Amino acid sequence: MADTAGSSLSLFIWVLIIGVGVLYGFWGGHIARNCGLDYWIGFIVGLLGGLIGILVLWLVGRDRIKKNKPVPERGQPEAGHIRQRQALKVCDRCGKLVESGATFCQYCGAVFTSAAS
Ligand SMILES: [Zn+2]
Repeated sequence: MADTAGSSLSLFIWVLIIGVGVLYGFWGGHIARNCGLDYWIGFIVGLLGGLIGILVLWLVGRDRIKKNKPVPERGQPEAGHIRQRQALKVCDRCGKLVESGATFCQYCGAVFTSAAS
């Protein structure tokens, strides 16, 4: 009697441990997938490592995202591009880009009535 109760209790604990482990596995897999890693690597790390595994995955993932993200942003000279665009305006007559402060178009000679525009 006591033996059966004990084994069912330990079975319950095992199910609980495995259940929580699987939950951590799904969580780890989700984190891994978000940062470009294999889902099952995250699953196994979460399953075996639990909360520590999740923490490690999160740190690794954050590090990967930090390393990967700034590269395309740094590659495009966005700020310089905007600054250049602000200093230019389109000529109404020929459609070419001229300096916004210019009083006449250097391509077609059209006179701009308002240099500020
Ligand atoms: Zn022009």
